[in-house]
Amino acid sequence: MITINFYTLLGQVIVILFIILLILISITLILGYYLIRRNKLIFPSLLLFTHSLTYPAIKRILIYLKFNDLIIDQIGIDLRNKVNQDKFSKLDAKDVIMVLPHCLRATNCPAILGESGIECVCCGKCCIGTIKKISNEKGIDVYIVPGSTFIKNVIKKRSFKGVIGVACPVDLNVSMTSLESFTPQGVYLLKDGCINTIVDVDEVIDLINITQPHTNYKKEDYI
Ligand code: SF4
Repeated sequence: MITINFYTLLGQVIVILFIILLILISITLILGYYLIRRNKLIFPSLLLFTHSLTYPAIKRILIYLKFNDLIIDQIGIDLRNKVNQDKFSKLDAKDVIMVLPHCLRATNCPAILGESGIECVCCGKCCIGTIKKISNEKGIDVYIVPGSTFIKNVIKKRSFKGVIGVACPVDLNVSMTSLESFTPQGVYLLKDGCINTIVDVDEVIDLINITQPHTNYKKEDYI
């Protein structure tokens, strides 16, 4: 009798937990849809909570159903961008760093690898040079990193209050979550991979421009 009651109770608990998970997943997907498709941020704290709780489950479901699983990463990135936007725009440019992935480099990049990542010489063969020139004028330090180890080195060496990150959606979502206390702003790659990746340079420059003091740099003037 006791055994039957125990298993009945266990079954009921599992069903209740499953229903709660379904509700949380629905909230994440509905609020996330409004965010990435309609550019509307509704109940940000709730979405932050449900997104971090349901991320692994939604990721697995989307992969299993062969849907675009990057959507859940894009929701996380857009969410943190919006939540941090106001605070980020009040930061002095000198307190902001930028982290770019080395895969943006041209295949015949002449830069060498230093202690803090790739040392770009602004040769003009890829967009990193343009972004670096504008960042230099604004006073934002740029780090071109081949991996997360270099990001840890940068964090140890230099103090900063804000960070602009560029990476593939999965890496960017993870990085923005772990760098939450540094008011992160992220731009995800339009084409990812190991080489010849693509980023919307204007979007990166917009983030440079909104740091203090506000500026109006344009890509065309620095190519
Ligand atoms: S602009 Fe910089 S990163 Fe790009 S190819 Fe030239 S040296 Fe390398």
